[in-house]
Amino acid sequence: MSSWLLIIISIIVVWVASLYKILHASRSQSNADGFIGTGEKRNVLLVIAHPDDESMFFSPTINYLISRGHNVHILCMSTGNADGIGNIRKDELYQACAVLKIPLKQVKLLDHVDFQDGFGKLWNRNLMAEIVEEEVTSHAINLILTFDNYGVSGHCNHRDVHHGICNFLSKTSQRDIETWELISTNILRKYIGPLDIWLSIFSATHHSGSQMHCLLNEHPRKSFQAMSQHLSQWVWFRKLFVSFSSYTYVNTLRRINSNNNN
Ligand SMILES: [Zn+2]
Repeated sequence: MSSWLLIIISIIVVWVASLYKILHASRSQSNADGFIGTGEKRNVLLVIAHPDDESMFFSPTINYLISRGHNVHILCMSTGNADGIGNIRKDELYQACAVLKIPLKQVKLLDHVDFQDGFGKLWNRNLMAEIVEEEVTSHAINLILTFDNYGVSGHCNHRDVHHGICNFLSKTSQRDIETWELISTNILRKYIGPLDIWLSIFSATHHSGSQMHCLLNEHPRKSFQAMSQHLSQWVWFRKLFVSFSSYTYVNTLRRINSNNNN
């Protein structure tokens, strides 16, 4: 019995230590060195599939960029209308972006027949590449962020977004555009909350080359507030998800080569 108590106390101590590291040491962000490190203001385009992807998965990166004065744009490929409440979810995205300090005029949400929320229908990757090209040109975007090939949860829409971006990169004439994908972690790492920062820092540090960076969330509370704006999604299991998800506390980003067409 006492050994169980010891284990539980140890877990609590490591959890608290991890939160302390996030809240008090993230300003230095040594693991993020080299990720937009020049001080030059960047025009960033975050491409997501559904309203709430930005708060649930990408908020450590958004907070990092906003606090350094970069210009963040969001392109959300659907209204999240799988349950017929796309209009409500659209408003929720704008409210969450207000919390995250992303100007609303920089948030674009599509409601296109080729990009409807749900399983079973492939999204039109060629059309997506054209839409991204338009966004990149009209906002002078020089950095793109999106899902990786697995898309964090394995949702087919997330994966289609990744492939749409790869399609764009294979066709665009703007070869110097920096593109980063959010690395999907395994299920164990996904639900150990702030504890995952140690594994993320280790993997980013020991990755060969300098094309992987780990960003700690400087404002986890803001991420909670942003997610709570998605009221239609803010049910008990998502509250638990946001509390225990490592994506609330840390993002590890990997550079996608411009000739990557996987
Ligand atoms: Zn999603």
